[in-house]
Amino acid sequence: MEENTTAPEDSRQPSAHDLEVLSRQLGRPVRDVVEIPARCVCGNPLVAATAPRLSNGTPFPTTFYLTHPVITSAVSRLEAAGLMNDMNERLAADEHLAAAYRSAHDHYLAARWAIGERSAIGPVPEIDGVSAGGMPTRVKCLHVLVGHSLAAGPGVNPLGDEAIAGISEWWTADRCYCDGAWDTTGDAPSRDLSRHGPQGLPEIVGRPAPVRKAADTAGGGT
Ligand SMILES: [Zn+2]
Repeated sequence: MEENTTAPEDSRQPSAHDLEVLSRQLGRPVRDVVEIPARCVCGNPLVAATAPRLSNGTPFPTTFYLTHPVITSAVSRLEAAGLMNDMNERLAADEHLAAAYRSAHDHYLAARWAIGERSAIGPVPEIDGVSAGGMPTRVKCLHVLVGHSLAAGPGVNPLGDEAIAGISEWWTADRCYCDGAWDTTGDAPSRDLSRHGPQGLPEIVGRPAPVRKAADTAGGGT
């Protein structure tokens, strides 16, 4: 049993076992995972932190990737129920919420910078100011916001926190939901058959050999 509250240094480092669990959770091999910023009470990863620049050179703005299948499917239910539309309407109408969400965006960028420093990636100017999930003004992917909230802890991303509260029927942080949540038999996936992840990655990632274009392609989406 490990405590999960503050993610001390030694629990951030992905072990070989962590990487295997991640590939089983996602059904594909993982690459460029540099930290495990949130864990189940049992110690298994909930969120993977990907390097801000992949080993093939591609800038990668989506730092916090929700990997636990129980949480990802629960968050998908919220998306299917239309929660993002509701959040976007509230962001447009509620200045306090909008300001808190902009702060979450700033936090995301600072956390990514810190991960880049710790993993010796260095600056990634192509994604300066670009976070993920629709931040700072829209909600485009709840999985991204939940991944951020689990990594950052409560009180940082108001809409991620809200989504976590919204899935309490299916997942809560105080319990382990790992048993049976992914295939633990046979070899872990070693070939990437999935092509893309489910979490609404920005257009500048997930394609081979992206052409470096003007900054307007990295403007955080529309
Ligand atoms: Zn667990």
